[in-house]
Amino acid sequence: MSPEPTPACPVCGSESGVLEIQLVVAGDPLSFALCSSCEWKSWAGLVGPLSLGSVLDLASAQGREPAWHRPGRPPAGGSAR
Ligand SMILES: [Zn+2]
Repeated sequence: MSPEPTPACPVCGSESGVLEIQLVVAGDPLSFALCSSCEWKSWAGLVGPLSLGSVLDLASAQGREPAWHRPGRPPAGGSAR
């Protein structure tokens, strides 16, 4: 096993100040990088870099069920009446 090198901060170039955190949001593995030197932040998912807005969308969708996601099954009973 070789440890993944921590990427340098693209803003200030600091390597020691960059923290990388792996986490799962709404079932998708994401990585969050944070520079403690200049407060640069970056989110990345399987498909590539993510904007903060799309990450927040994922996080908020996690606890809320969209209406279009519910099975709209009509009540059984056939043709009564
Ligand atoms: Zn930085």
